[in-house]
Amino acid sequence: MKLKHIISSKQFEKSFIRSIFEKADQIKSGRYNKNILAGRIMATLFYEPSTRTRFSFESAMQRLGGSVISTENAYQFSSAAKGETIEDTIRIVSSYSDVIVLRHDTLGASQVAASLSKVPVINAGDGNGEHPTQALLDLYTIFSKFKTPDFTVIMIGDLLNGRTIHSLSYLLSLYPKIKIIFVSPKALAIPKTLKSHLIATKIDFTETEDFDFALKKADVIYQTRIQKERFKTKNDYKKYFGRFIIDESTLQKIKPRSIIMHPLPRINEIAPSVDSDPRALYFQQAANGVYIRMALLLYLLGPKNQ
Ligand code: ASP
Repeated sequence: MKLKHIISSKQFEKSFIRSIFEKADQIKSGRYNKNILAGRIMATLFYEPSTRTRFSFESAMQRLGGSVISTENAYQFSSAAKGETIEDTIRIVSSYSDVIVLRHDTLGASQVAASLSKVPVINAGDGNGEHPTQALLDLYTIFSKFKTPDFTVIMIGDLLNGRTIHSLSYLLSLYPKIKIIFVSPKALAIPKTLKSHLIATKIDFTETEDFDFALKKADVIYQTRIQKERFKTKNDYKKYFGRFIIDESTLQKIKPRSIIMHPLPRINEIAPSVDSDPRALYFQQAANGVYIRMALLLYLLGPKNQ
């Protein structure tokens, strides 16, 4: 069944993922119609900060010939500042556009938006919930290096609040041979719902605070930042900040053919001296966001069989 909205990684089946990745490959090699979405309008409605997600969506739409209407910092620059509800905003924006890309600080906001919108809604991050399009570009990047889904992924950092962790884990759980090691302070371990899902899908996963143990096993090292904006006090945040760092000494411990990823922004979790190591893939990962988002926009808005 064709998806109307993109809200959660749990919606994705392997066949859907395959077709999006094939399309992204085609786009990457320049084989696509640069005017195919001419006349179509994408609205980007961002209530939380973003660099990569908003720009890569906007770049994706424009590369396909479509146009963009946008508000960043919507709490300040849209009628939200006057007290308008997200529900009313979505009703209005969905009559001005053909697709809405929404980032919001409230868990489940995209689901609510989808129930009210006349046009497809794409979840570009809902609080500490999910970030499904990031998961697709993450997996696309992983598969560009590991062709068979039989490897160990370690995920590090604020696993409780990190929405990219949640969406990527749901996606990885489709592949039974993939193993996951979660590395975090106990208080920032993966949410219960995700844990239950991994148990139900029989994924081989471990939770640990032992960074070195995980690093030695990793084929894919997925580093993340501590999600500062989700903590009640600065002191709570400071307790965890700077705990697991990847620097030059880490490079000596990891497998020669492993890859290092990060959804970005990085604060201090990966030292800049790591950037030139051939295993550091995070900038390539961010660049892949455009191809994946072009493939998704074509899936939602393009002519049939695109
Ligand atoms: N950019 C990603 C997100 O919006 C990761 C992060 O902010 O840490 O979730």
